[in-house]
Amino acid sequence: MEVISVKTNQRNQFVDITDRVQSAVTSAGFRDGIVCVFVPHTTAGVTINENADPDVVFDVLNALSKTYPEHAGYRHIEGNSDSHVKSSLIAPSLTVIVQDGLLKLGTWQSIYFTEFDGPRTRQLWVKMIG
Ligand code: ZN
Repeated sequence: MEVISVKTNQRNQFVDITDRVQSAVTSAGFRDGIVCVFVPHTTAGVTINENADPDVVFDVLNALSKTYPEHAGYRHIEGNSDSHVKSSLIAPSLTVIVQDGLLKLGTWQSIYFTEFDGPRTRQLWVKMIG
C-alpha cells in the first residue's frame, strides 16, 4: 500500500491528485488491475470530476455549501456537521481501472481529494489490486 499526503489550505477545497496516484502506480510497477484510493478521514473524501474548466469545481463546492451550510442547527458539538455530511455524500473511496500501467480515466476526468474541514494535512491510502 502507498500513502499520499495532501496539505489543504481552505475549509472546502478540491485538490487534483491524479498525477500523484499515477506516480504511485508507476513507481510500484503496477500494470493491470484496479487501484483503490481510500481516505481515512470523516470530514474529507475523494471523487472524480472535470479537470478542464476550474469553474466546475467551484460550482460543485458552491452547490454543496449552499445545500449544506456550515451552521444549520446541527447537534454535533464539534461544529463541523456540514463537513461530515459532505464527506458521506462524496464517499471515502473510489476505484480506477489501470491498463498498461496507466489510470484509465476519461479525457476530462481527474481524481480529486475533497477537503471539507481544512486547512489540514491529510492522508490517502492507495492499494493496487491485480
Ligand atoms: Zn466532527
